[in-house]
Amino acid sequence: MAMNDSVNILNSAYLAVEYIDSFLPDNPLQQPFKNAWNYMLDNYTKFQIATWGSLLVHEVSYFLLCVPGFVFQFIPYMQKYKIQQDKPETWEKQWKCFKTLLFNHFFIQLPLICGTYYFTEYFNIPYGWEEMPRWYVLVGQCFGCAVIEDAWHYFLHRLLHHKRIYKYIHKVHHEFVSPFGMQAEYAHPLETLILGAGFFIGIVVFCNHVILLWAWVICRLMETIDVHSGYDVPLNPLHLIPFYAGARFHDFHHMNFIGNYASTFTWWDRIFGTDSQFIAYKEKEKKQQLITKKKVN
Ligand SMILES: [Zn+2]
Ligand SMILES: [Zn+2]
Repeated sequence: MAMNDSVNILNSAYLAVEYIDSFLPDNPLQQPFKNAWNYMLDNYTKFQIATWGSLLVHEVSYFLLCVPGFVFQFIPYMQKYKIQQDKPETWEKQWKCFKTLLFNHFFIQLPLICGTYYFTEYFNIPYGWEEMPRWYVLVGQCFGCAVIEDAWHYFLHRLLHHKRIYKYIHKVHHEFVSPFGMQAEYAHPLETLILGAGFFIGIVVFCNHVILLWAWVICRLMETIDVHSGYDVPLNPLHLIPFYAGARFHDFHHMNFIGNYASTFTWWDRIFGTDSQFIAYKEKEKKQQLITKKKVN
């Protein structure tokens, strides 16, 4: 399909949504958000918003999203939801992870974030309130970005596990067999670049406002910190997303090294059968649970 055709399809979809939207009532959260957004536009330049705004959104969301998983380790009640029961978090690991993260965030990601302003200028991406898409359009765009990122992640992550190159790059991310939320972006700088590239493809396809950059950063962080959290907590709203992989899925990847290569969805591993060891493991776990239940009874 030509690039122009896909742009036309996207534009028609946006127009259709706008038409339906004209019949819907206004969102009560809209006014305060509008005021805050316009305050930002009046007081900061586009360069400041794109650079420092994006850095702030990333840092604040990253560490806030890590808080629940971090706190769980101190709550005895939560221990029954820890996936790898025999491998608790240690201070030493978490401190080491934190230091590497700060290095990666400021020396690898910040230079990339500095490109945001030039990206939005080059593609004429608006910052204004009037041009901002509605929240459900943003949700759809973020879902589209996640589908694209997941495909990129599956194939490149699988490649990084190839025995000839594994020890040079991806081994760093696998240093912790039992993951914890903060570890989501703990990786070799080259991995940050290679797997991180998948983040930008969706942006290039869907971006019609600078807010998508921030919305997609938050969604992607929510997902990756959840799957690395080490806890499978009930009523997790992310599990409402169809085909969502979740913490047990990626935790198994860290425990087993083979299989479950996708980041967000289960379909690529299903199609290529790379989830077979995970399925067998789950079956074995189920049987064992049945046996212990019978013994107790
Ligand atoms: Zn891996
Ligand atoms: Zn991981």
